[in-house]
Amino acid sequence: MQTRAQTGKLEKIVDGIVPFFLPSWPKQVPGLLFFYTPERDLLSSYLLGEESGQLSSNILIECSFVIQKELDQVLLTNQSVMVDGDDRTLSIGNFKCMLQPLAPENGMVHAVAGILIMEEDAYPYIHTFGEMLKGLYNMGYKGFLQRMVERVIDEAIKFHEPELFMKAVVQHLHETIGIAHCSLIRLDGRGFLLPQERFSTEDKSFAESSLYHVLPRFVHQKIERLTTADNKLAFYPIYYNEKPIAALILHIDETEEATLDGLDLLLLQMTGEQIRSQMHRTLHIHEILRESQKKELIYQLTKKIHASIDVHDVLEGVVGSINQLYPYFSTELHLTMELQTTLPVKTFTVHKELNQVSQQAYFEGRLTTGREDKEGRLETLVAAPLLGKQGIYGILLLKTTEMINLSVNESEYISVLAETAGIAFENAQLYQQSRNKIRELRLINEMAQQINRSLNMMDILEFVTKMLHMTFDAEYAAILQKLSDGEHMQIVSSSKSEHIGQIIPISSTPIAEIFMEKQRILLSNENFLHEPHPLFTYSSVMGVHMHQDSEVSGLLLVADTKPNFFSYDEYKLLELFGQHTSLAINNALLLSEVERLVITDNLTGLYTRRYLNENVKKSLESEEQGSLILVDIDYFKNINDTYGHLVGDEILHKVSSVIKTCIRDSDIPARWGGEEIAIYLPNVDITIASKIAERIRNRVELESNPKVTVSGGVAMWSKSLEINKTAEELFHDADVALYRAKQGGRNQVRHS
Ligand code: GH3
Ligand code: MG
Ligand code: MG
Repeated sequence: MQTRAQTGKLEKIVDGIVPFFLPSWPKQVPGLLFFYTPERDLLSSYLLGEESGQLSSNILIECSFVIQKELDQVLLTNQSVMVDGDDRTLSIGNFKCMLQPLAPENGMVHAVAGILIMEEDAYPYIHTFGEMLKGLYNMGYKGFLQRMVERVIDEAIKFHEPELFMKAVVQHLHETIGIAHCSLIRLDGRGFLLPQERFSTEDKSFAESSLYHVLPRFVHQKIERLTTADNKLAFYPIYYNEKPIAALILHIDETEEATLDGLDLLLLQMTGEQIRSQMHRTLHIHEILRESQKKELIYQLTKKIHASIDVHDVLEGVVGSINQLYPYFSTELHLTMELQTTLPVKTFTVHKELNQVSQQAYFEGRLTTGREDKEGRLETLVAAPLLGKQGIYGILLLKTTEMINLSVNESEYISVLAETAGIAFENAQLYQQSRNKIRELRLINEMAQQINRSLNMMDILEFVTKMLHMTFDAEYAAILQKLSDGEHMQIVSSSKSEHIGQIIPISSTPIAEIFMEKQRILLSNENFLHEPHPLFTYSSVMGVHMHQDSEVSGLLLVADTKPNFFSYDEYKLLELFGQHTSLAINNALLLSEVERLVITDNLTGLYTRRYLNENVKKSLESEEQGSLILVDIDYFKNINDTYGHLVGDEILHKVSSVIKTCIRDSDIPARWGGEEIAIYLPNVDITIASKIAERIRNRVELESNPKVTVSGGVAMWSKSLEINKTAEELFHDADVALYRAKQGGRNQVRHS
């Protein structure tokens, strides 16, 4: 069915040729000129000659009935037909009517022209004029087409901006043809469609457009000049220097009744032919602009990489560039590491759920494209690895449900963008690593300094706990020491002071887990063997061993209630802490041992006389009162003489042990002389001290073997009782009391 727009074209051509026809018609011959559409509708009519008054419009109506059959024949055969009539057929009497098909160059019949005359003398003219109409129509038709094409081109070249040019081409071609939509799609070097680079007069979304339904048949093949059998789609590939550059397409929605006719196709072809060089130039400019835009974006990104170590900044640039250059893609970043960002980042894990395309890109380290079914619709995926020099940091995944065909050039560009992100990651990582190293060195240095400053065990433990707490920013930190039973641990230092001193079994979780594996980072509660010990109900726990003489002597522990709180790097740092703490603790232990040795008498295990002296002096200054007991073994010379020196030594040792069990931890027993022992009891008065001395005397007598006895002398000082003495006076007084005990018959205690 012919639409108004089609008829309009015909009218224009007819209007264009009639003015050339009329002047050549002989004035004296009256006649009628009329035109029919292929649908047998009368298009227009004209009176011929000067005396044609009798040929009123009624004649035309009469005539149209008479010539029906012949009109059909002309339309069918594309051959002219002569109709001979007389007064029986038409009220005007005898006539001749020539029906001339108007069809350019053996194409479809566009129209049928009719010339009707009555003068028999003029009959011979009719053929000549019929031929003339045919020629005129051909010329007019071509002129019309040329004008149309010129109009399209004239309108388009008003625009210098490539996209506007392209839009103008499709828009004006569409307006000229009227019934069909017009699209322009870039072709790649092989002549394949690049559907994403298209301009169309169809303003629906692509997925709803008529193009979307027909293109799939043509995307994987070289585009040739063709018209589909249903006359609803026509391609015209434009070549420049034998290279395909774009395809002009006319398309009519399948639901529409209209079809493309020869005129439309000719217009398409002529426009394609004549716009070729402008199209080439515009696309070339378009390409240059796009390339320079791409270079600018890469340049900006590279600048960012050098100017900052902010990965987020670079990723934002990459995503921004993609959005700008490939607006049909949605962008996703799948990263193998965690990143603080507002970008659509997902964690990249290699598992089945992840799409094949990304997996392949990750494993092969190159850009991969593929299509996957997404809820019944095909989705195109482009996955580019974030490739650094040392590894792959994830995948840049581009998705679209649009039909696309990425050229090699564009694929390479996307690869470069992804690599830029990869390099940014690597830089940031290296920077972070060196920062971590610096931080580690600082911490270790600080630790070493602090440890050098003090060799006191409590100071070290407290300091290390504080460092753990601060460095790892964790809620909890503690140091545990293995007890000599091998089955328990004691919390010797903790960020929770109420924990200090608590003893817990090694078999409890998470201690057991940390103990069992030499290097262990426990990330979450789920990794625990059993219910965690009530002191350690944390989601993230990280622990390392401390060693003494290549045995595990303790643990450093940090914990937090947030899951997956610690990183591997932090674990490595904790290990360093563990090593240094072990060293510091071992040093402190060694020192305290040396110190103990210095103040301890070898034979008896009691303190030395010097140590006792110092402590008595300190006590005299700071405390209220104190007592001193002097113990001497009776007739010890005889023991030596009878049993020998070794047995004498054993007895001395035994007496010392008895003394140790008779006094408190705060009391200070010391070897005073050969077999004389002094015991200082701070804050103890003489009555209690005498009782203790008596208890010692009694137990030595009972427990020694061979049996010995001891004598004791007790003295005291007191601020409140105003018994003020120097250390020397206190010793002197005790010595005097001891002398009296000896004098009194030995095996007894006296006080001053
Ligand atoms: P008493 O005190 O009751 O007057 O008689 P005593 O025999 O114990 O006399 P005194 O205290 O004067 O003698 C000290 C003796 O103790 C001298 C020495 O043989 C002995 N002695 C001192 N130091 C040691 C020691 O380290 N080992 C041994 N086996 N004997 C010692
Ligand atoms: Mg003695
Ligand atoms: Mg003595």
